[in-house]
Amino acid sequence: MVKYKRILVKFSGEAFGQKGGKIDLNSVGQIVLELKKLRQDGVKVAVVSGGGNVSRWKDAGKGNRVAVDYKGMNGTLQNVGALEAALKKAGVPVSVYVSFSINSKYPHYSYAKAKKDYESGKIVIFAGGTGYPFFTTDTAAVSKSLEMGAEIFIKSTKVSGLYTADPIKNPQAKLIKKISYKKLVSDQLKVIDSVAVSLAWENKLPIRIIKWEQGNVVKAVKGENLGSLVS
Ligand code: UDP
Repeated sequence: MVKYKRILVKFSGEAFGQKGGKIDLNSVGQIVLELKKLRQDGVKVAVVSGGGNVSRWKDAGKGNRVAVDYKGMNGTLQNVGALEAALKKAGVPVSVYVSFSINSKYPHYSYAKAKKDYESGKIVIFAGGTGYPFFTTDTAAVSKSLEMGAEIFIKSTKVSGLYTADPIKNPQAKLIKKISYKKLVSDQLKVIDSVAVSLAWENKLPIRIIKWEQGNVVKAVKGENLGSLVS
């Protein structure tokens, strides 16, 4: 039994491959298995891919921000291309929409078309983040969750959730199992971008932050108390 019938899940860039490296097809295969399982459980699934394996402003922190940001947004297209191909190969129905205008084999985002695909049970992938620099794919994920009418946004990432401090730098850091939108924004906790949290807050969209490992998204969809819940 699943707790959520309509979800949007985001996979951070590193779920597709090492930073600066090639796309790892084994890793992409793990995402495919997870998405397949969710469909078998009757869950409607939208996907946003990160681009941090290609370029991420938080990591770069210098240079021309707009250029770094566009590189990151283009990076999401590489990840999505690999995921789409692997899903097709596995016989999973999928459609992809891009947020910005480019000459691409994928159509520009259309609410009506994407929503129809989502309702039909296809995996709907959103590439390109919001299409604007100075944003992140977390914000794209929240806005697309709202448009698709998802019950929850699952952010599947490198760390196991929200911590009181950076767990890599500070071994005393504690995992926060549950937090309000307000506290997350006022305490300026990292891991998820505060613009995304504000948008979710305004629209009462719950966010679960979990570590990406095979099986974890399915567990979260079944209602397991993994990682951190922002609500
Ligand atoms: N980015 C952007 N606008 C967006 C989405 C992404 O400018 O709407 C850029 C930004 O530099 C970001 C990078 O692309 O750091 C990769 O996206 P993100 O950090 O969200 O990916 P993830 O951390 O999930 O891999």
